[in-house]
Amino acid sequence: MKFFKDKILLSGIILIVIIVVPSFIFSLYQYGSIDTEEEVIEDVYENQLDAILLSINQYSTDILNAWVKDLNQIVNMADIGKTELESFFSNRKQIIAVYARELDSGEAPFIAWAGTPFTHVSAQIEDYINSNEPLIARLKEHLESNYQQVLGFDVLSEKTNLSGFVFLMKDLQDNIYVGVIIVNTNRFIDEIISPKIQETAGNKMNIVVYHNTTDEIIYANNANADIQVQKSKELWLMPNYFIGIELPGKTLDDLVNRRVTTIIVLIVLFNLILITGIWYLFRNIKRERELIKIRSDFVSNVSHEIRTPLSMISMFTETLKLNRIKDENKKKEYYNIIYQETKRLTGIVNNLLNFAKMENNKRVYTFGRESLNDIVRDIFYTYKFDLEKKGFVYESSLDENLSHIDIDKDAVTDALVNLLNNAIKYSAEEKFIKISTGKDNKKQFIAIEDRGIGIPERDQKHIFDKFYRVTSGDLAQKAEGSGLGLSIVKHIMEAHQGEIVLNSKLNEGTKVILYFPDKTENNPT
Ligand code: ADP
Repeated sequence: MKFFKDKILLSGIILIVIIVVPSFIFSLYQYGSIDTEEEVIEDVYENQLDAILLSINQYSTDILNAWVKDLNQIVNMADIGKTELESFFSNRKQIIAVYARELDSGEAPFIAWAGTPFTHVSAQIEDYINSNEPLIARLKEHLESNYQQVLGFDVLSEKTNLSGFVFLMKDLQDNIYVGVIIVNTNRFIDEIISPKIQETAGNKMNIVVYHNTTDEIIYANNANADIQVQKSKELWLMPNYFIGIELPGKTLDDLVNRRVTTIIVLIVLFNLILITGIWYLFRNIKRERELIKIRSDFVSNVSHEIRTPLSMISMFTETLKLNRIKDENKKKEYYNIIYQETKRLTGIVNNLLNFAKMENNKRVYTFGRESLNDIVRDIFYTYKFDLEKKGFVYESSLDENLSHIDIDKDAVTDALVNLLNNAIKYSAEEKFIKISTGKDNKKQFIAIEDRGIGIPERDQKHIFDKFYRVTSGDLAQKAEGSGLGLSIVKHIMEAHQGEIVLNSKLNEGTKVILYFPDKTENNPT
């Protein structure tokens, strides 16, 4: 048995070592790596914002490149394709003017306007080209290696809300031209850049385009938001304009904090589940051990209970067999003892069998119209001799007006025998037993009362459980029993849809009342 107990404990320990310890180590590791996680999130977040800004910038550059390509074709046409230029303007409402002249000679500057010309702009373009020679030289180098780069310049934007894009292009004779496209800045941002922003960001984040020095917001995808820009980058083509991003309601710190909180909550939850698991495991181990003890106590209790009548029977038959007893009365007394002990033995075995049947739900109840008073009379008749011999004063108080009710007579007799045996077993100095019957609120009852040792209050709610025995008190310990009697009574009463009421006081006595439903009251026959 000890080995078995230890085996359960061993399984528990092995489980802890295999599951719990690694899990705790894992939680600790997770907790420890929160800082690293934080950095990783920050990196991921930064990269994501960078990617969005990059894609918006790249998109506007692509648009400009396409425009430049179209313009290059128009410039290459004889007499600068006039009608094509018109459709070039009408398809691109953001463009205010296009400008071109031969780079080296500086001759034949050409400027075409989509609408009313701003005369001062031509001069500004010339100024810009002349004062940015190194920049133009770089564009030339790129063009020689077949890369037509477009650069934005801000000279015009501040005062006029115009932006310029400068680039070089070749005509069919490989002459190099410097070209400039002038756009309405607000329209370019509104009509070209903002749809791309909408497409990229949707509602997930707030994005604004603003002027770097004046902070004027040219575009916001969420007009109602009070935006706190978390990250910004200049528009490649409009150096004075910036794109700023904010995740609505979530700063980077918020994000990190939320994730860290989630991790901590998960770790705590995970460990709570683990602890509950361990507690459950040990509770089961404890229960299993208790069950093992109950089983072994039960076997020894039953053995004891059976041994007493057996030894009595064997002792008296032995004496009678030797024929030493000559006195007929004595002989009669011995036979009676043997008979009584056999009855006791039969009672014990019956109880065990009944219990086994009940456990397997196999006890069949046969109901018939019976009188509770008859049952009490029969029992007193059977137990009369036993009670008197043991020095009991007993009395009955039967309500003679009781009608017959639907009960299983044998089962109710079993229940009463169990209660009577307990009253006998657990009576010490004052040996008194009273059985009464009666009617109480449409129910008939049998009450059995003793003035024995009583039942401690803390045990009272358990004594109807199977195998349960009171372990405190001298007599309770010494008395033989298997702890089944009251659980059988309970089962029988449940089968009768009845009720049991227990009134017991330590050292004063016990009264058990069995209530049976009296259906004749509701449906008189
Ligand atoms: P047992 O075989 O031990 O008598 P029961 O199920 O009949 O088993 O009773 C359970 C316990 O309740 C007993 O061990 C006893 O301690 C207590 N008990 C039952 N009836 C009485 C009573 N009339 N007086 C005192 N204690 C009682």
